[in-house]
Amino acid sequence: MTLKPLVGHAEARRRIAQAVSTGKLPQVILIAGPEGVGKQRLALWTAQLLLCEAPGAEPCGACRSCRLVLGLAHADLHWIVPIPRPKASEPDKQAEEAAESLSEAMEERRKSPLYGPVDGMSSHGMATARLIARRAALTPVEGRRKVFILGEAERLVVQESSQEAANALLKLLEEPPADTFFLLTAADPGRLLPTIRSRTAPLRLGRLRDADVQGFLAAELDPPPAGPALQRLVTRAGGSIGAALMESDAGQSARTAAASWLEAVMTGAGPAAERALAQMPWSARGEFTDLLDAVAETLGDAARGAVGVEALRPVPAALARQDAARLMDAITLVMGAREAAQGNVNPQLLLAVLAGDLAEVL
Ligand SMILES: [Zn+2]
Repeated sequence: MTLKPLVGHAEARRRIAQAVSTGKLPQVILIAGPEGVGKQRLALWTAQLLLCEAPGAEPCGACRSCRLVLGLAHADLHWIVPIPRPKASEPDKQAEEAAESLSEAMEERRKSPLYGPVDGMSSHGMATARLIARRAALTPVEGRRKVFILGEAERLVVQESSQEAANALLKLLEEPPADTFFLLTAADPGRLLPTIRSRTAPLRLGRLRDADVQGFLAAELDPPPAGPALQRLVTRAGGSIGAALMESDAGQSARTAAASWLEAVMTGAGPAAERALAQMPWSARGEFTDLLDAVAETLGDAARGAVGVEALRPVPAALARQDAARLMDAITLVMGAREAAQGNVNPQLLLAVLAGDLAEVL
């Protein structure tokens, strides 16, 4: 499989291509913008352009470099995504483990280029920082340049344990090697450490046009949605292909589970809530945080309904009778649990505590 085409963001592409052709592209860029609008895809496009043997307004798409980038197999493209914390304690072993996790993540993305959100437990830890420093010190394998893409840069945890590795990374961003580019992406740049943010040139992406989202979904989803189903997906996506993908499959099952769990919580029947809990479909942390996200979204839909805004999705009947203030309190509780879920907690236990707290406000 190769990467899906980049959609939209014509102005950003034009500016990047212009800067690349004149040799003025900043070496450290922070691509910010809403979830699912293609920030990492634009970073990959930029990497392709930087590595292309015959770049123009777009990467040529045909040269060896372009083909390697599109197949996520270019040795000078380092796409760094959040990964689980390595288990090893020794720094070198940790970096090796991080390298392994990253290559597994890339294998996954080669298999299914339409990836969903990364597991909420994953981060860019010190092992990743070490790995980046190590790879940045090497000369390019294929050509003249190396490109590092740091996806979801908000998940960078630099104060974790080794000040030395953190400083090495900051130094790299401060003075990157002449042949090296760093493309960071973040939906919420405000959560990035100021010491990192201040070292980046900002590039802000907006939401995609509905026509772009529609074109992408019709061309890339299998089976392709059409007619009213496609229209509904596009409307709910709100200019985010990522949101449309969540809506179309995995997100749907999390939302169904969230609705039945919320109903069990609200009927207050202990055994029913326990049953619902036991039937929760997660097998990994990522699915657990997906579930919490879906619970928050469902409450958000209900809150919109309560203040007279048309809900995007049907709301469970029990929630439709709630007032907005209580629903907002409930959302705050879920967000708290979502935060706690990033740590080393037992999902079943966390969910049981959340159920008790929610039963008090709803
Ligand atoms: Zn090319």
